[in-house]
Amino acid sequence: KKITIAIDGFSSCGKSTMAKDLAKKIGYIYIDSGAMYRAVTLYCIQNGLFDGENLNLAELEKAIHSIKVNFRLNEETLLPEVYLNDKNVEKEIRTMEVAAKVSQVSAIGFVRKEMVYLQQQMGAEKGIVMDGRDIGTVVFPKAELKIFVTADPLVRAQRRLDELRTKNDTKTTFDEVLENIRQRDYIDQNRDESPLKQADDALVLDNSELTKEQQMQWLLDKFNF
Ligand code: C5P
Repeated sequence: KKITIAIDGFSSCGKSTMAKDLAKKIGYIYIDSGAMYRAVTLYCIQNGLFDGENLNLAELEKAIHSIKVNFRLNEETLLPEVYLNDKNVEKEIRTMEVAAKVSQVSAIGFVRKEMVYLQQQMGAEKGIVMDGRDIGTVVFPKAELKIFVTADPLVRAQRRLDELRTKNDTKTTFDEVLENIRQRDYIDQNRDESPLKQADDALVLDNSELTKEQQMQWLLDKFNF
């Protein structure tokens, strides 16, 4: 019998890698909820809703219902990729510019309301692995399996930097990435709307010292999928 799996945790702690690998192994659908908040952030940047640090909330509220965010399967990798108004933005949402602004956008109540609605629709059928910040607490409070992932900020910064380097970002420094991670941790944990926190019934996984493979083994050992 298929279940719902919620994976929450801090920025850049390997949640998505774990969620993706797990989904593939057990034949579930993987949904990256962070990609949706990133897509809305990209929309704001592309449509001039940011004036420096200031976001035009009134304009965003007017636009929110017409911003189309959905996923389509990449035929080669068989992984869902995020689309913003029918354009594949999977690459564009992973830049430092989007990372620097996404926590601000995802702290807005009407943005969360819209995204949570879409996420719940996608999860209406079981057999889904979704990762994010509030999946086990708000989106799927009844998920049969909840995992809360954490790792040392220094380890997370190095991992994110390695990832940026593979994407040909040679400019961003370790300190910039670390600062961005600390900022996002802070904003995500302290916002009024669904702050990042562990669900009472979540299992905690600190993967600071685990490889991808060890992490997967931890999961497979614990559960009989
Ligand atoms: O997971 P990722 O780092 O791509 O998420 C980007 C940002 O989106 C997070 O820093 C957080 O502010 C926001 N987010 C959220 N709720 C989720 C997923 C992501 O607020 N469920």
